[in-house]
Amino acid sequence: MKTLSVIIPCYNEGENVRDLYNELMKQAPFFSEHDIQFEIIYVDDGSSDDTVSEVRKLAAEDAHVHLLSFSRNFGKEAAIYAGLRRASGDYTALMDCDLQDPPSLLPEMYETLIREKCDSVGTRRVSRKGEPPIRSFFARRFYHLINLMSKTEIVDGARDYRLMTKRFVDAVLSLAEYNRFSKGIFSWVGFETKWLEYENIERRKGETKWSFWKLFAYAVEGIIGFSTAPLSFAAFLGVIFCILALILIIVTIVRKIVFGDPTSGWPSLVCIISLISGVQLFCMGIIGQYLAKTYMEVKHRPMFIIKDEL
Ligand code: UDP
Ligand code: MG
Repeated sequence: MKTLSVIIPCYNEGENVRDLYNELMKQAPFFSEHDIQFEIIYVDDGSSDDTVSEVRKLAAEDAHVHLLSFSRNFGKEAAIYAGLRRASGDYTALMDCDLQDPPSLLPEMYETLIREKCDSVGTRRVSRKGEPPIRSFFARRFYHLINLMSKTEIVDGARDYRLMTKRFVDAVLSLAEYNRFSKGIFSWVGFETKWLEYENIERRKGETKWSFWKLFAYAVEGIIGFSTAPLSFAAFLGVIFCILALILIIVTIVRKIVFGDPTSGWPSLVCIISLISGVQLFCMGIIGQYLAKTYMEVKHRPMFIIKDEL
């Protein structure tokens, strides 16, 4: 008998825990036909609602249900990592708790994995309906930007919902970086990924846990984690401004010698100084971002702390 580990990061998802379990169980007959049993791992990311007690209730009813509970909210990326580390299955699936990643797609994902002999089957939403337009707009800009800047391909609309083989999971775990951006890591490890597409499904209950600024920070994480292009851009700006300054110096000297220009040009001086200091601060900010990430990385802090395990 083989095992399929299902990892579910949960942050205040008490009302969805059982619904998701029920939906998953509907797929159990398909998998038992293929001699596969479930191992369901709920990773509680420091929830303050009844998520933990709901999972405990399920675990009391079904020995295939497991719980990892964090000591506080460490973020979805940490929850994914903890779940992958805990998973013992021959196959591992990763899905959200809010039923936006339909468990009914699992059989098709499994069949694709076997048929195509690949190591990972990912999912993409082809539409973003139901999502606030402003969020979709920034999401698209983000994918465009990061793919311009990074050699690692980040697929637009790709969800974290995917099915992986053991060796794919091991490869993902071998990247033990603190600042994690899973969408990039899944692509970076290579192997072959097949994509299944589906229409966006709205979250069943509760509200999204991602505010605009949380998403913005996540986007910055992705860019800094998978590209050093902003640093090159800062250096490029530096070169451009050096050339401009040189031209300006020559023009000023020539003007002085030829026209004997008296002390004029105070407004232009102010403009130039403020522009250049702005550019300097901007570039320092870029370097600062990389420095901050490096600082967090060299501290080697654990990505998460487990409070309870079941
Ligand atoms: N999540 C998490 N930790 C967080 C935020 C979210 O584990 O700090 C989980 C959340 O419970 C859900 C999944 O990550 O299972 C996706 O979150 P959400 O549905 O809020 O994001 P969206 O679908 O709106 O992008
Ligand atoms: Mg969701």
